[in-house]
Order: sequence, then structure tokens, then C-alpha cells
Amino acid sequence: MIYDLIVIGGGAAGILSAIGAAISYKEQGKPYKIVLLEKNEKLGKKLFITGKGRCNITNACDIEDFFMAVKSNPKFLYSAVYTFSNDSIVELIEKYGTRTKIERGGRVFPVSDHSSDVIKALDKALKDYDIEVRLNTNVKSLIVNDAVISGVRLDNKEALSAKSVVLATGGYSYQSTGSTGDGYRFAKEVGHSVTSLNPSLVPFQTEGDIAARMMGLSLRNVSFKLYNDKKKVYDEQGELLFTHFGLSGPLVLTASTLLDSRLRKAMNEGKLKGVIDLKPALDEKQLDSRLLRDLDKNHNKAFKNSLNDLLPSKMIPVIVELSGIDSEKKSSMVTKEERHNLLKLLKGLDFKITSTRGFEEAIITKGGVNVKEIDPSTMESKLIKGLYFSGELIDLDAVTGGYNLQIAWSTGYLAGYSSAFS
Ligand SMILES: Cc1cc2nc3c(=O)[nH]c(=O)nc-3n(C[C@H](O)[C@H](O)[C@H](O)COP(=O)(O)OP(=O)(O)OC[C@H]3O[C@@H](n4cnc5c(N)ncnc54)[C@H](O)[C@@H]3O)c2cc1C
Repeated sequence: MIYDLIVIGGGAAGILSAIGAAISYKEQGKPYKIVLLEKNEKLGKKLFITGKGRCNITNACDIEDFFMAVKSNPKFLYSAVYTFSNDSIVELIEKYGTRTKIERGGRVFPVSDHSSDVIKALDKALKDYDIEVRLNTNVKSLIVNDAVISGVRLDNKEALSAKSVVLATGGYSYQSTGSTGDGYRFAKEVGHSVTSLNPSLVPFQTEGDIAARMMGLSLRNVSFKLYNDKKKVYDEQGELLFTHFGLSGPLVLTASTLLDSRLRKAMNEGKLKGVIDLKPALDEKQLDSRLLRDLDKNHNKAFKNSLNDLLPSKMIPVIVELSGIDSEKKSSMVTKEERHNLLKLLKGLDFKITSTRGFEEAIITKGGVNVKEIDPSTMESKLIKGLYFSGELIDLDAVTGGYNLQIAWSTGYLAGYSSAFS
């Protein structure tokens, strides 16, 4: 038996590849045989944990804004996103019974707040389109003859034949979900190049114990800047979290998507610095008046007891120590110079970034199969006829907000859809 299409990987990209191909065959009025191979015991293990279990399906932004959120190779995505957009995935999921809602920042979630409902809808679609799903099926290698794909070999040595194969094996992060990087190996074995792989949307490790001493403290409405030596490369306002190893939270995760080879080099040389402005809404003059007022209000108390209105309690001992002001000194005795130093600290609490955390804590993998070797209008390999790529396996990544899943839906759909013409 020869399948029209074998899809390797039952995550977001793979499921959409299978559905996209089925839609294409139906439109052409042709019968089809499509199989989706997944090595886990169920589909969508990573999908299940997305958005803290709520699944931020996509972002309801304008398409042009979508490309701004993509950090690597946004132009490569034009055809894929215009073929299958954020509206298309919402329409598909709603058609199969899962209603969606839009939250802050255009983030789209299922109304139920359960990622399992997204998976349920996709499962229904797979059944509706008569797609064969084989679970517990681990692909070991691709079968290629004279630069044409002819099938795949499983780890039990069984060979499956097909006219086309879509690789949708995902990236290298959260490997417990099944994304163990097999697709990078398959791609290399048939002659593709893979750009350097790094964890992204990932927390930062910082030097010293300052962050650890504030572990668990989450700050809203602070600004976070990233400096390569003296050059500012990132400046955003939002939420940040201190952890036992350093810095995390949305601001930090987004900053981590900027780490290209140049910034990684700077980080390894100890030149990368994260600076937190704890009071971005106040300029220096306004903050100085505020400090004067607080010190005055607490003039009889020890300095360490004068910052309760200004800072969260977990942060006070740290700031007091870093300010160099005697913690027992009466607030009324704090000098202008000391107040100035305190102000500088509040506007620029800095951390040397020593490394990122590893793949096991990274939301996505930066790097992947080289886009120069893939036709962006079909997702077909330029080297091997009938081989298609989709999802996180490709050298594509974006910031948080539903964009990474949209990359998987769009490239998956286009890969499957196009395969039906080969
Ligand atoms: C904790 C976390 C939260 C996230 N939250 C969001 C979010 O809310 N919104 C968002 O847009 N993005 C989110 N992401 C990113 C998003 O989940 C991924 O970008 C997306 O799932 C990638 O889809 P994919 O189909 O390419 O890969 P995957 O979802 O990783 O799927 C790949 C599949 O291939 C299978 N596979 C691998 N090798 C083989 C093989 N040899 N044989 C058979 N099967 C194989 C794997 O088991 C896996 O099921 C999150 C990621 C993480 C880790």
C-alpha cells in the first residue's frame, strides 16, 4: 500500500498538515490515504501544556502585525500565513465544537480555558477527514531514492511507503512532550542544513544572589532593559519574576528571543546586562520628591522601615543593603547624596546575565532547518522531492502571544495542502 501522505509528528503542525492535505484532495475531488504517525500514546502532548494548560491558540492581530512578532525569518512565512491565517485556525476549531475568546493583547484562548478542548476539536477534524492516526509509532528514518522521498522506516523496522512526507517533529524544548529533535537528524541525513539550535523564550541566569533573595517576587509595571555592553538592545515595560537562579516572567522571556549569535557571544563574554527600572512611571525628579515625602513621613523611623509604601516587603532588605545606607539610620538623617544613590538604584537595578536556562525550560527552540532550502510557497524541500517541513522544526520563532502556534498551524496546513499536488 502506498500512502498519498505520511505526516511525522502529531503536534499542532502535524495535525494541520494532515487536515490541509485532506482538504486539498477533497477540493480536487481525489480520493486519498493519509496517515499521521505519533510516537507518544496520544496526540498533542505539547499542545496540552501550552498557555499554562489554557492554550493560547493564536493572536487576533492584523496579519502585518503578526510578522512583526516573528523573530526569525518572518518573510519566509508570508505564503503560509496568508494561506492559513489566525482566522482560519479559529474557524476550524470552532467548526469542531470549541468556542474561542480573545483576551488582552489579542491572545485567543478556548472559552473553557482548557487546552484539551482544542485537542478534542482537532481530533474530531481528523476523524471527519478520515485521517488514519497511528500512535506509539516512532519513525526512525526517511527513505529517499535519487533525491525523491518514498517513505519512512519505523523503529520496529517496518517500512511505510508514500508519495509525500511532511516532517512535523517539533523543536528541542520540553523533550518530555516528544519533541526530542528527531526531525533535525532526519533533515541532516538527507542533506539539509540545520542552523544552530538554542533555547528561546527562556529565563536568564544572573550573577550573584540578589535575584535569589527575592525569589518568588513578581513585579508588574516595571521596565526591563537589555544592554550589550553600553548599547541598549531591548526596552519594554510589563511583568517580571525573580527566581532562585535569576530572572523570568514575560519581559525576560521576550527579551530572550533577541539572543542571536552576536548577543550570545556578548553573554558568554560577560557583557550582557539586564536593568530593571522599578518605577518607570516616575521620572527622576518625581521619584526624588516621592522619596523625600516617604523619608519625611517616616522621619523618626529607621531607614529600613521607611520604604513600605514604595516597595514590596521582600525587596526592601535587598534594596536597603544595595543602597549602602545604614539600615538603622533615622530616615531624617538620610543625606541628599544617599537619597540620590537610592534613586539611581530604583531606576536601574542591574544584573549581569551569565546564561539562559536550558531547553527543558525553554518555550521554543531558536534555529532549525535552514529556510533557504525550503520553498516558502509550498514548504517543500528544495533538495528532496516530496519532502515537506512544518512547525517549530523550521528555523522560525516568535515572541509569546499565540504566534508560535500560528507558525505551526500555518506552515503545517500549507505543507499538507501543497503535498496533494505533487
Ligand atoms: C510550556 C509551553 C507553553 C507554550 N505555550 C504556547 C502558547 O500558549 N501559544 C503558542 O503559540 N505557543 C506556545 N508554545 C510553543 C508551541 O507549543 C510550539 O511552538 C508548538 O507546539 C510547535 O508545534 P509543532 O507541531 O511544530 O511541534 P510539537 O508540538 O512539539 O509536536 C511534535 C510532535 O512530533 C512527535 N515526534 C517527534 N519525533 C517523532 C518521531 N521520530 N516519530 C513520531 N513522532 C515524533 C512528538 O512526539 C510531538 O508530538 C508553548 C511551548 C511550551 C513548551
